[in-house]
Amino acid sequence: MKKEYIIPIFVPHLGCKKCCTFCNQRTISGEKKQVTAEDVRNTIDYYLSNFKNENQYVEVAFFGGSFTAIEVEKQEELLSAVQPYIKSKKVNSIRLSTRPDAINKSILKMLKKYHVKTIELGVQSSNNYILARCKRGHGFDDVIKSSKLIRIYGFNLGHQIMVGLPDSEEKDDIQTAKDCIKLKPKMVRLYPVLVIKGTELEEEYKKGDFIPLTVGQAIERSKEIIKLFNKKNIQVIRVGLQNTDTITDISTEESEVIAGPYHPAFGQLVQDSIWYDKIVNEIKSVNAKVIEVEIEANPKDVNNIIGHKKENINKLKDTYAVLTTVKNNEKLKLGKFKLNVIKVA
Ligand code: SF4
Repeated sequence: MKKEYIIPIFVPHLGCKKCCTFCNQRTISGEKKQVTAEDVRNTIDYYLSNFKNENQYVEVAFFGGSFTAIEVEKQEELLSAVQPYIKSKKVNSIRLSTRPDAINKSILKMLKKYHVKTIELGVQSSNNYILARCKRGHGFDDVIKSSKLIRIYGFNLGHQIMVGLPDSEEKDDIQTAKDCIKLKPKMVRLYPVLVIKGTELEEEYKKGDFIPLTVGQAIERSKEIIKLFNKKNIQVIRVGLQNTDTITDISTEESEVIAGPYHPAFGQLVQDSIWYDKIVNEIKSVNAKVIEVEIEANPKDVNNIIGHKKENINKLKDTYAVLTTVKNNEKLKLGKFKLNVIKVA
């Protein structure tokens, strides 16, 4: 199997005429200056020189900002810079993220010409009131239209969703996931809302007009959403913002996060919690009072089953008085497990 590598190139706020209340892309991406073709080439060269695997699949990813809302000349400048690498097969494809109202047929034709393969749309919510409340400047009908066009033109479609936006209750977040599923994205990213310095949301938070989710609440909501996507075999490729020098522990001086469900291992906590539910359900289905079990699972799942800082193992002991050991079983597929009851009361 080919090793997959991503070369990230951040285009902060390029293409965004106005700013969404929760966003400060310069902080989130850690990138403050505008990107040029030379930057693109330098970034690609730097990453390629560090990739070790011969059998590799390399994708250049333009993240941040709204790529297709940038002037076409600038889009073509940045995309052209990648073409020699595609021609020489050092880079295999391009992905980019953009706003749902910045997609049309001529843009898609242009992106095809430059070998873009995946387009991720910032959906955030399917509720028009919530979108307006965050000053997104588009409605969910734009998401429907652009998602359909992206798929018709043969691109991979990605959706980015936010959890815990202002006035978004759990049922609204779940509804967003259900509405997205109908549009058949190939992959999804889930971002619980953090309050970032320099955003309008910071002011709302300071005035008490916005109360962010706790880590626990964000885990619960994200977990339910992931289960919905899992059922439809839609890949959830990221849960929680990437840690950077500034998206980091709220208590540290350099952190630009003011408040919200920040945790350095947020994605793992959500996966751990999904596993915990699965195991508890399985234990409960045994027709006896179980006090010791052994779980067999694919080695890649073992850490999530044990949980961050052994949280799942400890919770099973404290809540259900069940002693648990976890064993590698390479024959089991990812996500599958076998529960062996060792002792009953
Ligand atoms: S469209 Fe995206 S990048 Fe632009 S301000 Fe809104 S969230 Fe930030």
